[in-house]
Amino acid sequence: MKANKFFQVAIDGPVAAGKGTAAKQVAQELGYLYVDTGAMYRAACLLFLEAGLEINPENQDQLVAALEQADFDLHNVTDEAGNFYTRVRLDGRDITTRIREQDVDLNVSKTAALPRIREKLVAKQQKLAQTHHVVMEGRDIGSKVLPEATLKVFLTASLEVRARRRHEQLAKSNPQLTLEEVTRQIQERDYNDSHRATDPLTVAQDAVVFDTSGMTIPETVADLLRLVRERIAQVN
Ligand code: C5P
Repeated sequence: MKANKFFQVAIDGPVAAGKGTAAKQVAQELGYLYVDTGAMYRAACLLFLEAGLEINPENQDQLVAALEQADFDLHNVTDEAGNFYTRVRLDGRDITTRIREQDVDLNVSKTAALPRIREKLVAKQQKLAQTHHVVMEGRDIGSKVLPEATLKVFLTASLEVRARRRHEQLAKSNPQLTLEEVTRQIQERDYNDSHRATDPLTVAQDAVVFDTSGMTIPETVADLLRLVRERIAQVN
């Protein structure tokens, strides 16, 4: 086993590739800590939006100060219906569902492109992986946050499949949103995330690429678990 005695499963991929659902189930199955790094960027974005702060590189002093003063809390919980999720709180207020709304969707890439915000959040993510076995999902986990991860996975699916999945999720709270609009938003966010200068979305060199377009969630989870267990057996 490597110097770091904790196992790290890094799952990256574009919007609505199924990372969250698969990563949560894999983490539960293995008893590892599930870390949704996208929720951290979303929470920072909401903080800035609500404070009326300009989200741009020139304003990073003010944004970093706001982030440092805020009290963020990410906690994995299981509700009464048995659903496992990450509860996100900002200064004591539950923002778990609020960070999934349209204004955050439309501004989060801009937030995540800011190098000094990334620096803060990446440090937080790396700290978690020093004290827990983790399944961490995001955009730059294999390439930047956990370059020595036990297993790196790049989860993807066709644009059509991803847009359909995301549209189904969003239609519950926003029935006016069309599939075309969701497709456009996904393309834009993926483009921004892949083309930013700092830690862009990319397939890490040693990542296993999974196209989940024709796969069910249980199939994806079973394949991921098999891969993780193989890797653990190799490094032990
Ligand atoms: O995973 P999710 O779609 O919730 O992530 C929201 C946004 O956060 C992404 O579109 C991306 O801009 C940013 N992000 C990132 N790096 C990560 C995780 C998320 O830049 N590791």
